[in-house]
This record gives sequence, structure tokens and C-alpha cells, in this order.
Amino acid sequence: MSKRVQHVTIVGGGTAGWLAAGILNAGLNRRCEEGDVRITVIESPNIPTVGVGEATTISMNVTLNQLNLDERDFLKQCNGSFKCAVKFANWNHGAAGKPIDFWHPFSRPGYLYGHNATYHFMKLRRAGGPQDYGDAMFPSLKTIKDCRAPRQAEGKDYDGLFPYAYHLDAGLFADYMTTYATNTGVEHVRDDVTAVNLDERGFVKSLTLKEHGDWPVELVLDCTGFKGLIIKEALGEPFRPYSEHLLCDKALAVQIPHQEGTKLESYTTSTGMNAGWSWRVPLYTRLGTGYVFSSAFASDDEAITEFRQYLKLPDDHPDPRVIPMRIGRSERSWVKNCIAVGLAGGFIEPLESTSIHFTQMALRWLIDFFPDKEMSPALARHYNRVTRDLYEDIRDFIVLHYATSNRTDTPFWIEARADARIPASIAERLELWRHKLPGALECNHNWSLFESWNYIDVLMGKEWYGDRELPGEGAIAVDDFKEALARMAQQADQIYATAPDHREVLTRIRANDYRPWYNPVPGAAAPMIDEIAGAAASAIA
Ligand SMILES: Cc1cc2nc3c(=O)[nH]c(=O)nc-3n(C[C@H](O)[C@H](O)[C@H](O)COP(=O)(O)OP(=O)(O)OC[C@H]3O[C@@H](n4cnc5c(N)ncnc54)[C@H](O)[C@@H]3O)c2cc1C
Repeated sequence: MSKRVQHVTIVGGGTAGWLAAGILNAGLNRRCEEGDVRITVIESPNIPTVGVGEATTISMNVTLNQLNLDERDFLKQCNGSFKCAVKFANWNHGAAGKPIDFWHPFSRPGYLYGHNATYHFMKLRRAGGPQDYGDAMFPSLKTIKDCRAPRQAEGKDYDGLFPYAYHLDAGLFADYMTTYATNTGVEHVRDDVTAVNLDERGFVKSLTLKEHGDWPVELVLDCTGFKGLIIKEALGEPFRPYSEHLLCDKALAVQIPHQEGTKLESYTTSTGMNAGWSWRVPLYTRLGTGYVFSSAFASDDEAITEFRQYLKLPDDHPDPRVIPMRIGRSERSWVKNCIAVGLAGGFIEPLESTSIHFTQMALRWLIDFFPDKEMSPALARHYNRVTRDLYEDIRDFIVLHYATSNRTDTPFWIEARADARIPASIAERLELWRHKLPGALECNHNWSLFESWNYIDVLMGKEWYGDRELPGEGAIAVDDFKEALARMAQQADQIYATAPDHREVLTRIRANDYRPWYNPVPGAAAPMIDEIAGAAASAIA
């Protein structure tokens, strides 16, 4: 008898569940002579998704491209827009106590004559050269600041003038992935899981569904959101909170219209507030905004009042929705025959939009570590190790934003960077970085989302080094950089001249009709489990 896993059950129909279905189906069911692995998504018709999660990282481009999806159709279907950077405002205060802004684009400044170009910038800056790190080092920034897009409407998909990610409507994206996945053979069951049944070894043997009864399980993905229905509630895997390092545990979320006559930003903005920070994610059709805050420093009412005033919401506008956040990770993501993906596996506050990235990595890794019926503990062990490392890596990068803030105007900002809050892994590196710029040896693992360039960008943006001279500047001639700066300025002008207006390009993209290969009849309903024929499962190219 074949040892192959023949059926994967995914419980949960949010972004995690449907991304998982799409990626797994494309990754597992391409060419195997023994037939496809059956994939089913069970989604409750009664429990809503978390309904937020609208900014992505550049891994989304890779995923969509790998799934052979038309980028323009995706943008149209999901009311998407381009995200080329994150603008940080009011995370630090300058010399006069005024808030300073900095930018975190997706580009890397690179090397000059074998030395990190940031050393050159620092040396020239002290000698009276350009003072703004972002403007000098990122040729794309002039374009991004002016709300332009990284590609033309007619250009080649996924091929921008500079790296970019997307903003998307979370609900529409789940629908989009549902259509893609079901039209390529994934089964869709709308039902509630009411019980998780274990065998004598503690493996998930079956699920009890309210309408469909007993549902046997071979391998199950828990994508049930913060509650972790299988990994936590049924298998009892402990949760490791990160609350000692990251204070924010709640969020407010509200959608507001674009102001008439304003440009459509091609970047996310993150603004420091009294007890946390607020996000601003511009979709084509509306703004998604929210306030991530610490309940130890602001009650719901206080946060709502502050946020309403900040947004200038009219009195008759409903209050923002309050969303509790469970910050941390499941001790192990893969336990027995269950793998927790998305919020069920863990969550780090959304400052750098890392959660959907994590889901994509979890699925790519699962394809690499895909087990047979024996569910080798060796596979699970290694998968759990890399998963844990990625969580901790992202946690450290997020903590860095707080640890290097110099705000003293509210108790939250002082407590958020208290020594006791900073994990040793980041405290040690900050000590090291007093003497050098962050480098690959300390930051770049093959699974890292944030490399040394990202750490440098945050430290430089927050003016953490001030006028300090680093030993690494010793081997550099000030004049070497002047030529490179002139070249980068020229490049910035070229990009700016080529890049179209963000809103205009999306309007043009949305004016066309697309006929995705997986959905040859536009508007046709996705097949449900009872309608799906076995043959449809092999539809993927
Ligand atoms: C405030 C906030 C802001 C965020 N911003 C970002 C961001 O900018 N970028 C980013 O990458 N991520 C962000 N995230 C994270 C992002 O929202 C999630 O990664 C993403 O939405 C995936 O969620 P999920 O699918 O794991 O869970 P959910 O959306 O909660 O979906 C859970 C699913 O499980 C189903 N379910 C639950 N119980 C059962 C049951 N008993 N039977 C059957 N089905 C069941 C539900 O019906 C639902 O379909 C943010 C999160 C929060 C809280």
C-alpha cells in the first residue's frame, strides 16, 4: 500500500487557509504519475475571518508569479495597489523634539569599492555632504514620495523599475484565492468543525463537522486564526507569548474613503501614537487604517478617542472595531499530523506586514518537507526549528524599532525600550552595532526576511548613529562617494521620468477585462465539493 499522503484537510478559509490551498495544490499536484493529492478547505459559514491584513512584502510577487497568476487581474480583483516602501513617522524625535520621518523601501544600497556604501555616506555626511540617508541612498525614493508606481499598465508582469509589494483588500484576496484554488481542483466545504478526534497516539484521526458528520484526516492544516482550534485547543500545544518584548496587544481597525483631490500613495505609513502606532494602507478604492496599541497603556476608550481625533472622524462615524491580538507563537507549529499556519501558528504585530509572508514561507517549506503517512518526526523537528527561527528573527527586527526610539513623551514609549523588554539576541547585536554597521554575518540567514540592509535602514533612519565615526570608515576616501552619489541622483531622475502616476496606472489596469487561465468563464461560480469532479483536480498547468 502506498505510503503517500493522499488527502490534506485545511481548516479555515481566511487568507492563510486559501493561500495554503493555492500554494500546496500548485506545488504538490503538478506531474506525479500516481495522481494528485486531494486538498480540501473546510471553512465555517458562521465564524468571520479576522478581516485585516492588507499590506504585503515582496514575497507576494514571487508567490503570485509562481502560481502563474496575472498581476493585473490580481490588482483589479483585490482593489490592490503598489506598496514600494514603508514611511515611518513620529517613531523618533529630532534634536528640537520634533517628530522625524524615515523611509524603508525594498531596495539595498550595496557596496562601493568593497565597502558598505553606508560607511561612505556617513563619512561624506560629516564632511558636509548630503544629510538625508533615504534621499541619497535610494534612487527609487523620489518616485515613491511623489506617489508614482513601479510599473506601467502595459509592462511585463512582476517586472518593476524597482522592488515592490502590494496592498490588497483582505476579503477580496481570500475570494480571489478561493476562485483560483477551487478552479484548479481544491475542494471547498462550508461547514463548522465541532470536534477534533484524536487516536491513541494523539494524532488527529477525524474531525466532526456540523453538517457533513465524520471527516477522516490524514494531514491537517490548522488555519483557524487566533483560536488555534486544533493545534492549541485539541492538541494542547503550548503558546509562547512575546508580550515581555512587544507590548502591543490590541488593534483598532477602520476603513475610510480617500480624500478627494489627493494622490494615491504607493507606500504604507506607520505613525507613532501615544500607546503604539497607526497604519495607513491605501487601496485603490479606500484607505485601511488602524491603531495597534498596548492595553497596559491605553484602555479601548482612550485609544478610540485618540484615534478618532487623529483621523478627524466625524461624530456620526461608527467607532473603529477593536481586535485583540495574540502575540507570540505556538511552541511547535507542526505537531503529530497537524501543522498550524497563519494566525493559528503565531503572530507578531503587523508593523512590517510579516504575517502573510510567514504563511507563504510556511507553505513553501511544507512542500519541501512534505511527509508520507509515517509523519517522520525528523521532518517535523526541522520544520519547527526553521519556523521558530523565522518568528524570532522577525520579532527581533520589530523590537529594534522600539528599542531605538528616543521618544519620552508618553510612558508607553519609555517602557517599550526598557532593557528588560529587549531580547538578548537584539541587545547583543545593538552593542556590536555601536562599533560597526549591521552586516550579513549577524543578520542574513537563508530564511531571513530582514537582511543587514533593513537593519541599517532603521538605524540610519532613526539617526541612531548621530555623528559617530565608525572604524569601518577608515579605509574610505570621501571623494569616492561623490561620483556614486551623482550616478544615483541621475538614476533617481530616470526612474522618476519613467514611472507613471500610481492612481492613473491602476485606473488603466482596471479598465481592461482579464480572462484568467484557471477561470475561462468570467464570473462563473467556483465549484463546491458536491459539484467538483475528480478530473478537475488535474486542471493545473
Ligand atoms: C490588526 C491586524 C493587522 C494585520 N495587518 C497585517 C498586514 O498588514 N500584513 C500582513 O501580512 N498580515 C497582517 N495581519 C495578519 C493577517 O491578518 C493574517 O495573517 C491573515 O489574515 C491570515 O489570517 P488567518 O487566515 O490565519 O485567520 P482568520 O482570518 O481569522 O481566518 C480563520 C478562519 O478559520 C475559520 N474557522 C475558525 N473556526 C472554525 C471552525 N470551528 N470550523 C471551521 N472553520 C473555522 C473561520 O471561519 C475563518 O475562515 C494583521 C493582523 C491583525 C490582527
